Amino acid sequence: MNIQLKNLFSNYSKKNTHIIQVVILCSILFFSYQPSKAKTNQTVHVKLFHAYPNISQVIIENANVIYPQFNGYISPEEITIRCKNHHLNISQNKKLITSFNTQSGKLVLNSSTSKGISIKANIQNTQTNFRTYTGKISIYSDKNCNIHLENEVLIDDYVAVVVGSETPKDWPAEALKAQAILTQTRLASMKPNQALVDSTQDEAYLGMEYVSTQVRQAAQSVKGQILTYESKPIHAYYHSTCAGKTSSENYFAGDNFQKQPYLKPVNCSYCSISPFWKIHSSVISAEQLQRIFKTLSIEVIETDIAGRPIQIKLGDNSNNTKIISGYQFWLSIGQNLGWGKIPGTLYSIKKLDSGSILIESKGAGHGVGLCQWGAAEQARLGKTHEQILNYYFPGTKVSIQK
Ligand SMILES: [Zn+2]
Repeated sequence: MNIQLKNLFSNYSKKNTHIIQVVILCSILFFSYQPSKAKTNQTVHVKLFHAYPNISQVIIENANVIYPQFNGYISPEEITIRCKNHHLNISQNKKLITSFNTQSGKLVLNSSTSKGISIKANIQNTQTNFRTYTGKISIYSDKNCNIHLENEVLIDDYVAVVVGSETPKDWPAEALKAQAILTQTRLASMKPNQALVDSTQDEAYLGMEYVSTQVRQAAQSVKGQILTYESKPIHAYYHSTCAGKTSSENYFAGDNFQKQPYLKPVNCSYCSISPFWKIHSSVISAEQLQRIFKTLSIEVIETDIAGRPIQIKLGDNSNNTKIISGYQFWLSIGQNLGWGKIPGTLYSIKKLDSGSILIESKGAGHGVGLCQWGAAEQARLGKTHEQILNYYFPGTKVSIQK
């Protein structure tokens, strides 16, 4: 997904820009909540490079390569793995070392150093930076010879990487702790053997490079703690910037959805420090509207208490109108035109003479649950992580996971 929001971050270091971009994308979080008995000393499985489905080649450093038919040893220098004719070809210094039939299983990489395994991927004509992961990585390919990677990682390392990936490294410790507890709460709600993905479809998990000393210490200090309501893990939603007020969970799913009492709207002006607090304007052209929604007639007919559109009418012919949710409209624009087009769900729609529409939005992300920029400011003002979590999820408490 391509987000061009850098012009919004002039007051923030470039180092943090991509992190803030990631933070926006957490708005797509949807989890399944089935309590299980996940423990913090267990591992989780995470599909890597999930946002990139067409990986043709990976370059790996600091890994021992293991697979059943291979009795030799590949030194942990840089190796390249490509898929060709259902085989993963492993080469080093541009020389083919061996070829592995992917129909007979998966390649497994173990880290050769305590730092972890470093991987970069070729996606069409671009190459990612190296990302480093602890634990094991399995590599396999599909029938189209796209390479897939799955990391088995200790929960403690997973939580630290997610906290580092989802927040700027210089955020106050209490905000980082609140973030870690939300991730641990999500893990406690997972189905057994469920694999996560490293994109914001679950949570961003971008490698050990994102784990600073502060992030590690914050995660460690709340190890095993989750947020509960009536002794059950909560639906741990969060987003970048609410821009004034959060919305209830019904914002996603309409009024037929059972309301969670701890996800009621709360006022929040703490996030006025966020670069997303100010109004962001975008024009969606007539051609784009026609392509995405098959109509130029788009009207907000209902908003929620926070001002977020909850019902949008598409079409002006009474025989051919359709109502979609404000959240669905926002997702459709993001998926088709990039997430920077409408960063937040607190938006209005104005028709322009040309058939285009002007969308003015405030905030970033879906607006439900914890507001990350608000949490950061509350931490800076001296609130504890428990006070912050209780502010955005009233009636919940921090519990030790059994
Ligand atoms: Zn806020």
